[in-house]
Amino acid sequence: MRIAASLIFASAVSLGVTGAAWSQTPATKSLAPAAAAAPAPAAAPAVAKAPCANPDALGIGRVVEIDTTGGPGFGFEHFKQLDFLRDKEIVLTFDDGPWPLNTPSVLKTLAEECTTGVFFPIGKHSTYYPEVLKQVAAAGHTIGSHTWSHATLTNKKLTEDQRKEEIEKGFSAVKWALGASPSPFFRFPALQHPPEMVTYLGSRNIAMFSCDLDSFDFKARNPQQVIDVTMKKLDKLGKGIILMHDFHKHTAEALPALLRKLKAGGYKVVQMKAKAPVETIARYDEEVLKDAKLPTVSSRPVSSVVQTISE
Ligand SMILES: [Zn+2]
Repeated sequence: MRIAASLIFASAVSLGVTGAAWSQTPATKSLAPAAAAAPAPAAAPAVAKAPCANPDALGIGRVVEIDTTGGPGFGFEHFKQLDFLRDKEIVLTFDDGPWPLNTPSVLKTLAEECTTGVFFPIGKHSTYYPEVLKQVAAAGHTIGSHTWSHATLTNKKLTEDQRKEEIEKGFSAVKWALGASPSPFFRFPALQHPPEMVTYLGSRNIAMFSCDLDSFDFKARNPQQVIDVTMKKLDKLGKGIILMHDFHKHTAEALPALLRKLKAGGYKVVQMKAKAPVETIARYDEEVLKDAKLPTVSSRPVSSVVQTISE
């Protein structure tokens, strides 16, 4: 299916980002989202999906694969070097999940529109609700990370080690919840980018996501406000990576009408997939288990592990 050669971008970038490459795969209209887009985590449960039942669905216009080598940055609010979206193309992104009710509601709406998004879950939330996060993966969406506890990494009280721990434990927690490594896609809480952590993520080959437009859904007083703010900004820009929160009720409630408006406005969703999953660090995988007091095999009573069958 790959028809375009990978494009290599090796521009010098002030924040220590060395480059990125992606290839493009045109989506076939008859393909279901899961068929057009394999789940990001390699070992995530693969669910065979029926073809899209909605003939007027928003769908997926294009699939791009991201080579995260060197930690490319996306989203013009902070990173302006990779202008890959064409006119009328959008990327739907969702932060702060997984969360009961709201995340499943977002998933239902995306499925009804046979479309997809990039999810940036919080590590702690992933340990609270791993089954919800597994649903996100099973639906074929791309999953990255949004730190362990949503700490603002520009907070001067945090040491460099604590900042790295927030990043690494976030990925380790998502990996624990999914049973597979997520994509090396990261979004800083509150879009606060300390330069040394941008450099660090570059060294870890993790792509950074800011946004082109913020829906300000966390400030919205009702679902209509989410729709109005998003459409107004989008119609001005003509394209962009949209920041939303699957954690928020108003977002979940606004999404069906918002996706209809996007379709009516001629916008096309671009799916962003990583070329390879993130490589987590074993020490942080272990810390997630310890700090979250998650059940492990070793915590089971011996009688539930070892049973005498015959003597
Ligand atoms: Zn957030």
